[in-house]
Amino acid sequence: MEERRDAYEVLGVSRTASADEVRKAYRQAALKHHPDRNAGDVAAAERFKEATEAFQVLSDEQRRRAYDQFGWAGIEGGGGGFPGGVDLGDLFGNFQDLFSEFFGGGGRSRSRGPRRGPDVRVLERLTLKEAAFGCKREIALQFPAPCDSCSGSGAAPGTAPVACGTCRGTGQVSNARGFVMFTAPCPTCRGEGRVIKTPCPACHGSGEQAKSKKIVVSFPPGIDEGQILRVSGQGVPSPDGGPTGDVLVQVEVEPDERFERHGVDLATKVKVSFLDAAFGAHVDVPALDDEPLAIEIPEGTQPGHVAVVRGRGVPRLDGKGRARGALHVVIDVEIPSASSMPPKARELLQALRSELAPDRAPEPRVGAAGRAGR
Ligand SMILES: [Zn+2]
Ligand SMILES: [Zn+2]
Repeated sequence: MEERRDAYEVLGVSRTASADEVRKAYRQAALKHHPDRNAGDVAAAERFKEATEAFQVLSDEQRRRAYDQFGWAGIEGGGGGFPGGVDLGDLFGNFQDLFSEFFGGGGRSRSRGPRRGPDVRVLERLTLKEAAFGCKREIALQFPAPCDSCSGSGAAPGTAPVACGTCRGTGQVSNARGFVMFTAPCPTCRGEGRVIKTPCPACHGSGEQAKSKKIVVSFPPGIDEGQILRVSGQGVPSPDGGPTGDVLVQVEVEPDERFERHGVDLATKVKVSFLDAAFGAHVDVPALDDEPLAIEIPEGTQPGHVAVVRGRGVPRLDGKGRARGALHVVIDVEIPSASSMPPKARELLQALRSELAPDRAPEPRVGAAGRAGR
């Protein structure tokens, strides 16, 4: 029987965690348990997969609802009796995408021929405006590259690694235990099949050297949180003359004080006085592109009214027609407290109330400073 760990527990977040918190927790888990960083570690690979599956569920509103209601059964229902169940095939489709993204186009094949250099992954933080309208960034990269002195062999210049005597170059040793033969990686060469007699002095036999370089990355308008930009051929050089790896830049977008982003749409709040709401008014609204934006609100505008300004949202990443989303302006109507008003204004308001509702007796409760006309 499998006892699956709770998805919230896997990511270490509370059941009320926001989408942002879920994303952050996953990023941390993914970086920690990433197979590239834990070569050959089966437990780490398992945790990475577990975290990814938890993220696939909790990052999707519909799946999260199904999970909250039915647990993993709601996710694995796959057409079964559970309303809102999610097909697991779909889940693994995404999982594969994510995987290939992380691995830079499929795992390292051990086939003959020169190997492709590894990819370098970096996280880059953009402001909402930079993400919306695109920007160029110089990014400093640090990565291990094949050592210049020994071309990555780890053996001192003029020498070469030799076949391991223990395993005769196979990298594996076999032991008989009872009737069964067990095969294990060779302890002498750690499964490499080769040993270095004279280590390269520059890299102490590791064959690697820390390198740094700067690249300029162009972020296209409309890029969003979590998206990964691939910069071809700027990663780690191949150890044996194959193609250079890529740089994968994962985008992180800073929260903005004024705007919330929903895909290509933006939402902002603006305060108007109760008088402007009653009479209608021109209201200045913050715009992401800093051009002043005046909108007109009709008379009788209610609190929570949403004015939609088309074409002032975020540009579409696919560039189709270069259209932009909409800016949604939520109108917040400020109702003043009568006692904090200047006396003259309070009198006028009181008079207005008597005018509009003559049958109504003035309220006795008018704040310490105020005196009702009675
Ligand atoms: Zn070296
Ligand atoms: Zn060996």
